[in-house]
Parts: sequence; structure tokens; C-alpha cells
Amino acid sequence: MSPLVVIKNHVIPNGVNLLNFLPPSLCLKLAFTHREVLLPRSFDVLILGAGAAGLFCASEAGKRGRRIALLEHADRIGKKILISGGGRCNFTNIHTTPENFLSSNPHFAKSALARFTPADFIGLVKQHRIAYHEKKLGQLFCDNSATDITNLLEAECHAAQVQIFLNTRVTEVQRTTEFVLSSDSAEFRAPIVIVATGGHSIPKMGATPFGYDLARKFGHKIVPTRPALVPLVFNPADHHRYSQLAGVSTEVIATAGKNSFREKMLFTHRGLSGPAILQISSYWKESQPIHLDLAPERDATASLRASSRRDLAATRKALQQFLPNRLAERWLGFNAPSSYTNPDLAAFEKQLHNWSLIPASSEGYEKAEVTAGGVDTRELSSKSMESRLVPGLFFIGEVVDVTGHLGGFNFQWAWASAAAAARSL
Ligand SMILES: Cc1cc2nc3c(=O)[nH]c(=O)nc-3n(C[C@H](O)[C@H](O)[C@H](O)COP(=O)(O)OP(=O)(O)OC[C@H]3O[C@@H](n4cnc5c(N)ncnc54)[C@H](O)[C@@H]3O)c2cc1C
Repeated sequence: MSPLVVIKNHVIPNGVNLLNFLPPSLCLKLAFTHREVLLPRSFDVLILGAGAAGLFCASEAGKRGRRIALLEHADRIGKKILISGGGRCNFTNIHTTPENFLSSNPHFAKSALARFTPADFIGLVKQHRIAYHEKKLGQLFCDNSATDITNLLEAECHAAQVQIFLNTRVTEVQRTTEFVLSSDSAEFRAPIVIVATGGHSIPKMGATPFGYDLARKFGHKIVPTRPALVPLVFNPADHHRYSQLAGVSTEVIATAGKNSFREKMLFTHRGLSGPAILQISSYWKESQPIHLDLAPERDATASLRASSRRDLAATRKALQQFLPNRLAERWLGFNAPSSYTNPDLAAFEKQLHNWSLIPASSEGYEKAEVTAGGVDTRELSSKSMESRLVPGLFFIGEVVDVTGHLGGFNFQWAWASAAAAARSL
């Protein structure tokens, strides 16, 4: 007589993996209540991480008839999507080009971006009747809420019969004849593993270094990671001078290295933020200066030079034409012209267009929207995202060394890299 395993009211002849025949909801329940008797579950593809990239890859691969398990250690899917874009999810940018991305291998993203475009994702958004609008600079946001996008992804996964396992932290991946994944609730097997575990940013939202560790374990190089799209912190002297301006915002051209962005800048209690600063933070290197043009395309001292009245009050008035009063006042307090001769006014004008500061640091991964660096793309196929070192192992989304500018580009990379992997299965 063959021995039997009994799970609640189900009787399983030894050797038969009943879990493969049960509905996912029941399997999930069993996974939590009867961990000790679970047998490994077999799938065609295992996807690690139910964020933007993992969810989209799962639905696209599921539509191609693959049996997909999507493993997520949080208690719900797409947590970062829900907080993105101030709760309205800037889900793509209609002006996406490869130039909107940083990578130590700038050509890598081209193929995937060309084969899954913003128009492709917008098509899906329309199909799900999600209302959206362009805020500025090609940035598309949901009218209602970011939940619309997680609902879309969940519905697509459901239609593609993807099995989603929440509260399932993948702890180890081994490769024998196929991949064997250990998690805190069950063991999973498949010939293909897709790593979509994201980067270091916002650990309290569930970010883990698991994807990088896994890549290293299988011999992949990691381009050093750093916080990107992150506020910058004043050095002590500038903190003393400018932290009282917290809440003040103005349009600037911010420059770090060779990269400039014309956008709003915001003073915070600790330093500088706002879109202009977030954009240059991705290029900023510790101990390097940033440069701020406080009067983009303006001849700010023209009225002074044309006037017979040249003094501090007239200068303040000139600055207040385009800077918020508090900023004009404070900035002038530390940068007033040394005299009102034409050469000194020219030097003052120059300083206004090129205010240099050396930030002490960035606000770090706690506040960074993304992680720059990651799995070295020179060891991945740009067509499929598959490892060149380990057949069957794929990396998609933020864990890869491709980082978008602010404005919907990071989600576009998540969708495009996910589609590239799914289409190759
Ligand atoms: C505050 C904020 C706002 C943002 N707003 C925008 C925006 O409006 N537009 C835009 O384009 N981008 C935005 N971004 C960036 C965007 O959210 C990310 O680029 C994108 O989510 C990356 O997708 P991903 O699937 O690669 O990683 P993630 O979304 O980080 O998903 C990774 C998933 O893997 C899970 N995971 C990690 N380790 C394990 C493990 N060991 N086992 C199981 N699961 C694991 C995590 O819980 C997570 O669910 C924002 C980011 C932040 C932080």
C-alpha cells in the first residue's frame, strides 16, 4: 500500500504533487498552514518580485501559454506603483528616447525600448478604460489613482492565469537540471527564473538587495549602485545660510557634470530637492559641485545697469522680478555685488547664473526614487534580458544597470524590459 500524505481534507498519494492541481487560493492557504508537508511546485517560469517589471512580465509570458509563478515577499503587489507619482503613477513618458536613461552601457536599452514603446503601454491603459492626462513634458499620470495601474496589472495576470504568491520571500536559488527556489513558505522549480526584485531604494517599502546578491552568486558583475533621483543635503555652511528657506521653490537650470535640467528646485530643511535637483542627483558624484542658474535666460541686472540708482534696494527689486522674495533677500545677503560698477555687476550677474555648491551628501536610499547601477548589462542579452553566463536566468527592471530620468521613464523601462524577456520565452 502506498503511503499517503494528508493535508486537511485532501489525501495525496505519495509522489503526486497535488499542489499542482489545486486552485492557487487553496495552495496559498495550505502554504501558510502546512509548510512542513509542501512538495516543490513546478512551473515553466518563476518570476521574483511583483513590482512593475515582475507583474508585467508575468502577464505577458502567461499570455504566451507559460505556467507562471510570481513570488513576492510583501503582503500585496506593486507597492511602489501605489506610492508613485504622488499616488497618481506617472506610468510612462511619450517622449521616451534612449537618451533619457543612464547606464554604463548606453546602447543596451535601445532594443527593448524600441520594441515596447510608450504607445504600447498607453494602448493597454486605454483598453482598461483608465483615465489619464499629460501633466508636463510628456509625463502621463492617472486622473484617478495609481491603484488603476495595479488593478490593470492584476487583471492582466489573472487573465493570463499567473499564480501570485504573496508573503513569499525567496531566500535561495540553486541551479541543477533546472532552477530550484527556496522561500519561507514553499519550494518552487522551473527551467526559467526571471529576477525582478528591484533596487535598494526605499527599504521600508520592501526593497532588498536580493537581486544583486543572486546575480553575483551566478557570476554576474554589478555596476556599483548609488541612490538616484534623490534630494541633496547642504554642507554645514550652506545649511546655516539657506535651510531657513525650506518650502521656497523657483525655476533653475541645475547642472552636474555635463548634464543640465531646467525645472523647479525646492529648498528643504536639509538641502535641495524638486525635479531639477532630483534629475541632476543621478549624475552627481560625491564631493563634486553642482551649479545652479537662478535666472535662466535672463539679463537680471539690465534694469540696474540702465539706471542711475544702483544700490542694494534696487538690486533686491531686480531679483524679486523673478525670484521669490525670501530667496532674493537671503541670496543677496550672502552674494551682494561688491560695488555697483559695471564690472562688479557683471560679476554679480555671472554668479547668479552659476551658483556653485558642494552638497555634503544625498538623502540616500531612504529617499531615493531609484537605484542607479546594478546588474552589468554587458553580461545580458539586450534583446531578451537573458544572462549570457547562465541560460534561463533573466534580469529585468530596476535591478539592471539602466536608470531613467524623472518623468515616467523608469516605469517605461520596467514595461519594456519585462516585455523583452516575456517575448523571448
Ligand atoms: C516614491 C517613488 C515614486 C516613484 N514614482 C515614479 C513615477 O511616477 N514614474 C516612474 O516611472 N517611476 C517612479 N518611481 C520609480 C519606480 O517605482 C521604479 O523604477 C519601479 O517600481 C521599478 O520596478 P521593478 O519592478 O524593477 O522594482 P520594484 O517595483 O521595486 O519591485 C520589486 C519587487 O520585488 C520584491 N522583492 C524584493 N526582494 C524580494 C525577495 N527576496 N523575494 C520576493 N520578493 C522580493 C519587492 O517587495 C518588490 O515588490 C518611483 C519610485 C519611488 C520610490
